[in-house]
Amino acid sequence: MSETTNNTASVMTLARDNVQQLTPYLSARRLGGSGDVWLNANEYPLPPSFALTSQNLNRYPECQPVEVIRRYAAYAGVQPEQVLVCRGADESIELLIRAFCEPGKDAILYCPPTYGMYSVSAETFGVEGRTVMAKADWQLDLPAIEQALDGVKLVYVCSPNNPTGNLINPDDIRSLLETTRGKAIVAVDEAYIEFCPQATVAGWLQDYPHLAILRTLSKAFALAGLRCGFTLANVELIDVLMKVIAPYPLSTPVADIAAQALSDQGLALMRARVAEISENRLWLQQQLQQTACVEQVFTSESNYLLARFSAASAVFKTLWDQGIILRDQNKQPGLSGCLRITIGTRQECQRVVDALRPLPGANSSISETVSASKEPM
Ligand SMILES: *Cc1c(COP(=O)(O)O)cnc(C)c1O
Repeated sequence: MSETTNNTASVMTLARDNVQQLTPYLSARRLGGSGDVWLNANEYPLPPSFALTSQNLNRYPECQPVEVIRRYAAYAGVQPEQVLVCRGADESIELLIRAFCEPGKDAILYCPPTYGMYSVSAETFGVEGRTVMAKADWQLDLPAIEQALDGVKLVYVCSPNNPTGNLINPDDIRSLLETTRGKAIVAVDEAYIEFCPQATVAGWLQDYPHLAILRTLSKAFALAGLRCGFTLANVELIDVLMKVIAPYPLSTPVADIAAQALSDQGLALMRARVAEISENRLWLQQQLQQTACVEQVFTSESNYLLARFSAASAVFKTLWDQGIILRDQNKQPGLSGCLRITIGTRQECQRVVDALRPLPGANSSISETVSASKEPM
């Protein structure tokens, strides 16, 4: 037993210093739980159905499968040369760091509260992750960002932002792009853009050689298990990423299914999902606003809602015990008391409401809470 421990310890000491210090990203899946209502990873609640169309697994796949690239470019309104496909938007985040940041010298910059993988990827490569807190309204603090840009090669902007759900003001993204011109890459993470397609900055590529846009099939396309994402950028930037990408980033079945998801029929299904989820989100938002234990529900342009609760940990635990798994954001800077709820089916949203209604609010007695639960649905 002690021998095993010693061996493990000695292997750990062989690892790079920054890897020894690394805390791996606590994904919703790693956090576990034994629920039957999974509302913690911003997935689509129901599985789409696909069949493989080709039987050629003896051959290596194309590095950049032509049909997937062609269809995604048409969908996104860009040229095929402006599209890179890879193993999810998480790999796009990583490719940018590997291609543009010198470990121990360069930095990335991001604005909490936001998506957790920017910092995890930077740490993995020994690159400094510099933070400039978002303002109280969760918009970019442009003067503070400008002050902090020294040594920064890459700025991540998440819009709609995960976990807050708000869009970043487009004028601010433009200002940031002007400030960083010739100095740093701006990566706009549009993982949820299908829920607010008018807000994309894909049309700005012609103006900014240092703009990269991250996309994914994991959210509105209901394919989180497929692991397929995209980077949109001008050819010069795509060529840099092509230098560091794996020779076969996508397996043949992934490319096969991705192409189907991007067919006319696939896009129509995606848009129907977005309409359904957006409707459920509005419904849940209204319900939460009439629920005693909810202090505030934030407006969202995505497939999740962030809400502040009077007793967030107790609420999280109560729902957990009923098999309803939410994402606790309480530890994120600026988000004390906040939980993030993925929008599921209407039934799942109803389960959340039913579980929350009996819980007391900060200033309400039990009897007030009971009367709140009798409000018309
Ligand atoms: C889910 C998510 C991703 C990761 O997408 P994958 O394609 O599944 O790797 C990236 N960015 C944000 C903001 C996300 O919420």
